[in-house]
Amino acid sequence: MNPIILHADHLVMMDSNNAVLQNGAALIGADGRIQSVGQADEVVAANPEVEVKRLKDRLLMPGLVNAHMHSGLLRGTAEGLPVWEWLQQFIDPMHRVVNEREAEIASFLCYAESLLCGETTVVDMWRHMHGSANAAAQLGIRAVLVPYVAEHPDHNYFETLKTNEALIQKWHGGADGRVNVWVGLEHMFYATPEAWKRAIEMATHYQTGFHTHSNESKFDVEETERRYQMRPIEALEKFGLLDAPHTLLAHCVWLSDAEIQILAERKVGVAHNPISNMKLASGAARVVDLLASGVAVGLGTDGEKENNNLDMFEEMKTSSLLAKLSRLDAAALDAWSVCRMGTVMGARALGLDNEIGSIEVGKQADLIAVRTDTPRMTPLITGADGNLHHNLVHAVRGGDVDMTMVAGRIVVENGKLLTADIQELIADANKAVPDLFRRRADWLAAHKPVNALEKQ
Ligand SMILES: [Zn+2]
Repeated sequence: MNPIILHADHLVMMDSNNAVLQNGAALIGADGRIQSVGQADEVVAANPEVEVKRLKDRLLMPGLVNAHMHSGLLRGTAEGLPVWEWLQQFIDPMHRVVNEREAEIASFLCYAESLLCGETTVVDMWRHMHGSANAAAQLGIRAVLVPYVAEHPDHNYFETLKTNEALIQKWHGGADGRVNVWVGLEHMFYATPEAWKRAIEMATHYQTGFHTHSNESKFDVEETERRYQMRPIEALEKFGLLDAPHTLLAHCVWLSDAEIQILAERKVGVAHNPISNMKLASGAARVVDLLASGVAVGLGTDGEKENNNLDMFEEMKTSSLLAKLSRLDAAALDAWSVCRMGTVMGARALGLDNEIGSIEVGKQADLIAVRTDTPRMTPLITGADGNLHHNLVHAVRGGDVDMTMVAGRIVVENGKLLTADIQELIADANKAVPDLFRRRADWLAAHKPVNALEKQ
């Protein structure tokens, strides 16, 4: 990879000052890292031998970090139910029948969609993830792969700690460090206490992260209280499930003050998924309180089945709107905070903020160019009283992303994916879906879905 200078009209740094540099440039080294940042004429003059890519009518910013998503092929086919019924009716039967080839096709499709709307890092909880690793390696996205593990007699159709470990051994640190593998757990209720212990031992042994869903719905809290006479975050702490080297929890909608305190003290990252939480009628997370307590809150789209797209700009806008609506406070969750949740704070929620999330020297060149020559970006006013950050949160859409670079490699240019034929990926998905759905229907016809939780 040759060094390159990216020269844009605006550099949205997402450093600690939320600085925006006009007519700025970043020098990307052959190692895929940012080597210098400054005024374009100075960076160019200091590196006369380096090719300059002029991003005119573009702003350059760190790539978005999708802190919680699921690859999948169920878009628009799992509608109108709250989360636990929805799992039994639509999702778990799919898990029973999905095969390796279908899982790989889903990851190719979802990572391509992610790159096209400016996500350079995804945390994906999914199945048969060797295929996901192949997809991330080929398409060029940075991925944290987290298998959907269950270790419970009632949920014996998911990934297991054994398949999770095999994936760690094969892929953790793979694709030049772009692919990392954590230990995953669908939900605490999907594993036995003995398996909880083994999961955390495995994360500690491999010095990797741990990711699960928690406090998503009121049911989640009530059921945990019924079983253990305590709230979910208290239970996770008591049972050692916050003891991995790094922990990221998805949702965390229904939280007590004491639970927020635990998350802050234990430096647990939270992935906030406002669209999923609205669509499944789960509730409005206490994001403002989490941020005030110092918890690193990233944003996640959740899966194609609960969103129904993977556009993080939509997620940014929705996080702002939901915070304002749920608190009846038009000033709640200001636009810079949302920009940080989508980038550098999302990186911190993953424990990767030393590597990604801002345009700073030494970090990975995970960068995106966003068009500014569009009606929805107009007018664009910079400076202290400007509207650039408001436009980024409330006006921009994923389709405005023009270029995506991961680790110094351009993988989307002029809005087109360079690392695969997008039409082929779409055709593969369309071809795979009828058989997947037929097998799920066959399973459902033979087995009335049961509420496994009710008999535990
Ligand atoms: Zn999820």
